[in-house]
Amino acid sequence: MQCARLKSLAREWFQKVREDALAPARMMEFIHRHIRGCPICQNDPDLPQEVEKIREFIRAPEVIPTVTEISEEPEEEALV
Ligand SMILES: [Zn+2]
Repeated sequence: MQCARLKSLAREWFQKVREDALAPARMMEFIHRHIRGCPICQNDPDLPQEVEKIREFIRAPEVIPTVTEISEEPEEEALV
């Protein structure tokens, strides 16, 4: 993972997943949304594998959300 921003976001989201404040599937949505908007993440060749590891770790279902579903969520800003 080359993106410092995603690293810190993932840490925050993971904390919330552990506290049951965020569903694992939701965390995966946030990760995928960040990657779509982030040139650093898009140019990180190892990132898909790392995201897959995260998914297994938090036991999220293997569902890639649609763009419409996630574009309505303002939560990423709220977590900064
Ligand atoms: Zn990024």
